[in-house]
Amino acid sequence: MEKYIDTDLCKECGGVCCQQNGCIFLPQDFEKMTFNYLKNEIDKGYISIAGQPFNGFYENGWSFLLYLRARNCDAPIVDLITSGGPCSLLTETGCKLDEEHRPTLGLLVKPTKIGGPCEKMFPQEALMSWINYNDVLCQLIKHYTKKDVVDIIIEQTKEKSRSINNKRALRIELKAMEEHLYYYLSIMNNNPYYTSQEAKRMLSPKYYSWKPKNN
Ligand code: SF4
Ligand code: SF4
Repeated sequence: MEKYIDTDLCKECGGVCCQQNGCIFLPQDFEKMTFNYLKNEIDKGYISIAGQPFNGFYENGWSFLLYLRARNCDAPIVDLITSGGPCSLLTETGCKLDEEHRPTLGLLVKPTKIGGPCEKMFPQEALMSWINYNDVLCQLIKHYTKKDVVDIIIEQTKEKSRSINNKRALRIELKAMEEHLYYYLSIMNNNPYYTSQEAKRMLSPKYYSWKPKNN
């Protein structure tokens, strides 16, 4: 798989993208996609179960795509509606993970501009390939929280909305991810929810069968 590394540029930049959010893994980053294997990886402490709403598969619906990302500082294990970074793996000398173990979607961002945004060299279908493994991530969420995915989404959305409103009232600058939350909310408030399995049945396989080259 092609990797995009420019240590000098990223050093000069100081890891602005890593300060905004931990980067996202792909299923191909894990040896196995079983409950026990992934639980063991998550329990190492630097991975969160994350995700984002998506629509477009059906004109009046939205669903929630679950995936794994590098855990942000102070973020919970199940961090579905994230406030963003900094990534817990970011140090003064760069990423704690070597290139072999770094999340693939991070390696598929081409360093192009100090301060970013840098060029994403992957299609949306790469992220959507996680839909094939959302069942096992749902089971892991249940294990860690004793709750269903949709309940966590509602709970964390309400919590983040409250914290954003408080920040706005106090004129505290919002993080980039917090600004983005408004986009999420408009999708979620105006359309019915479908589980990821229901959404998958409505999607053409071309939207979720992407694999990195040489994989
Ligand atoms: S924002 Fe771009 S230049 Fe800066 S650290 Fe990230 S990839 Fe490198
Ligand atoms: S995993 Fe490494 S490269 Fe990715 S956001 Fe964290 S510190 Fe940056």
